[in-house]
Amino acid sequence: MDIVPKELMHLISFFQNIEGVGSKLGQKLSYSIILEPQKIDELVNILHQVRLKVGRCTICGNIATKSENNKFICSICNQLNTRNSKQLMIVENVFSLLSFESLGFYNGHYHIVGRLVHPTHNIDDLNFSLSSLVSRIIQSQYEEIIFGLSNSLEAELTISLILKLLKDNKLDFKNVRIYKLASGIPSGVDIENVSNKSLLDSLRNKILIDIK
Ligand SMILES: [Zn+2]
Repeated sequence: MDIVPKELMHLISFFQNIEGVGSKLGQKLSYSIILEPQKIDELVNILHQVRLKVGRCTICGNIATKSENNKFICSICNQLNTRNSKQLMIVENVFSLLSFESLGFYNGHYHIVGRLVHPTHNIDDLNFSLSSLVSRIIQSQYEEIIFGLSNSLEAELTISLILKLLKDNKLDFKNVRIYKLASGIPSGVDIENVSNKSLLDSLRNKILIDIK
């Protein structure tokens, strides 16, 4: 007979499979929940509420709370009067967005692309996910677009692909300046792991991309 019940093993492996949790923490979380039964009810209730009320913003992809009319618009996209509607920053994921927000420096809009172009992967599905970004840019009046992406080959390929899609869709580049972050971000490090100082410096000294 197994020393650990299989139901508990399922819980442990569930936690362990979450990125960044790992083997020991997954085990600790599982036992912590199991050994205090009231925590199970609490967790089930919290997860149920999250499942019902939390989703992705339909404009930018950030995490959002469902509104009374059943729409998911995040708190940033909702701040129409206080955010700079002429600036858009393109980021890889929610963690990047939170890192930039924590700097208290950038006050424009965001768009989350979800993942970056990988040199050996098929880009067809990524093309599809980028179509909402491209339509958003074409239909908006952004004067400044900033690629808030990591210092990596994948980020460079993603920038090239998005610029190509914008050209294909006849964006008038005369009216919009496009930037990438300045050097200073360590190569291959995710944005959320870059120090606030380096991130702020790279944003302050952002580099204008010459569109040909
Ligand atoms: Zn949003």
